[in-house]
Amino acid sequence: MEGDLFVISAPSGAGKTTLCRRLLAEVAGLDFSVSHTTRPPRPGEVDGRDYHFVDREVFEAMRARGDFLEWAEVHGNLYGTSRQAVSAALAAGRDVLLDIDVQGAREIRRVFPGACYVFILPPSLEALEARLRGRGSEDEAAAALRLANARRELHAASEYDYVVVNDELDAACEGLRAIVTARRLRSARVLAAPGLRAALGLG
Ligand code: 5GP
Repeated sequence: MEGDLFVISAPSGAGKTTLCRRLLAEVAGLDFSVSHTTRPPRPGEVDGRDYHFVDREVFEAMRARGDFLEWAEVHGNLYGTSRQAVSAALAAGRDVLLDIDVQGAREIRRVFPGACYVFILPPSLEALEARLRGRGSEDEAAAALRLANARRELHAASEYDYVVVNDELDAACEGLRAIVTARRLRSARVLAAPGLRAALGLG
């Protein structure tokens, strides 16, 4: 049986990257879909692990070839999800985590309406702003743009199946793990396991 697709979005500054990293470290059988981006790497980011960092020319050639399941321009940079990597992992029965923005999630919904859509919210606007300003890796104009975009994106939360409020990291992480566990326990998925069917004489 194909794996499940988990799509996680959040306004910038909600703590999504940290949460996704923890989820991936704590949950077995979940692959992170490494996006392509034209954004330059931030300190500590590793090419091929956090993103595939490419220039605009390469990105546009890939886009023209139809290599992306979805792509979007976020804060002036291009981001895209590799069609091949996602389909191969799902076909191999692995679950896949997409960390993508709201526009990308809307596009994915057209192709995968049955995927699991999760939105992460900050506990308040003050917390969001403090996290964005504390990041310190960008100039004032870029930080202001992210804050304006983030405030607008909060409204998209209701489009998602699940919402996790990231007030306290451990609790938020537990929420995410619970969502993955519940998805994996859907009857269609559990009963599709050939070993279990045979062991229970279900044919
Ligand atoms: P950042 O530059 O902070 O890593 O990411 C900025 C935004 O781009 C985040 O909301 C992130 O989820 C989103 N993003 C990352 N990869 C993709 C992608 O492949 N497609 C889309 N649509 N958004 C992405």
